[in-house]
Amino acid sequence: MPKLRAIFFDIDDTLYSTSEFAELARSAAIDSMIDAGLDLDREAIREELDEVIHEFSSNYEHHFDRLLLRTPRRHYKGINPAIIVAAGVMAYHETKSRRLAPYEDAIEVLRLLSSKTDLLLGVISEGLEVKQAEKLVRMRVTQFLSPNAIFISNQLGISKPNPKLYQRACSDLNLRPAESMYVGDNPLHDIDPPNSIGMVAVRMRRSGKYYHEESNSKPARVVQNFWDFLDYLGQEFDIKV
Ligand SMILES: [Mg+2]
Repeated sequence: MPKLRAIFFDIDDTLYSTSEFAELARSAAIDSMIDAGLDLDREAIREELDEVIHEFSSNYEHHFDRLLLRTPRRHYKGINPAIIVAAGVMAYHETKSRRLAPYEDAIEVLRLLSSKTDLLLGVISEGLEVKQAEKLVRMRVTQFLSPNAIFISNQLGISKPNPKLYQRACSDLNLRPAESMYVGDNPLHDIDPPNSIGMVAVRMRRSGKYYHEESNSKPARVVQNFWDFLDYLGQEFDIKV
């Protein structure tokens, strides 16, 4: 049986449902902006906000400011737009503290792998360093990860789908790619690049916007949740917990 020494995980739509969370947070923000005096129907705000996110990217820090700039003044007559923006931001952050939670099976399996095996567990994630790190801290998963095995694209100056990101994680930890595994949901970012350097690439096909897309190369296995994944580790790598 092949020897496996390390498993790296994707964060968004792998450890938690990013899509579900974003939906909750955005809709809470919209309600809160309406309460603060934005006089437009939810659908109209939603459409405009989706456009802003699309145009400025999801990592942009001022979605609600842009939204207000694009909204005719008559829809918030007599109200300081900063109050409406703040209401949106507040609701978004409150949703984060209440609802940003990992999949339950993700936590259970990470707990088992970290306590019952000598596998090195880490993360390779695309995004802004503090934003991605905050997700790990909020989900309380850092306790299961090796502190030196958290790799965030913006912090390294290498973005997915560049395979160098994966190479860097392996070389920093003295791992051969063949003994290292990556688990993620995005076929073009999470399967093809690690495959191209000889890592074991596992596709988490569970939710999210890439659900219907296919990778160019074949994943070692497609799993639907972390229990599936644990079975696979037992069958193919003799990892028993
Ligand atoms: Mg993802």
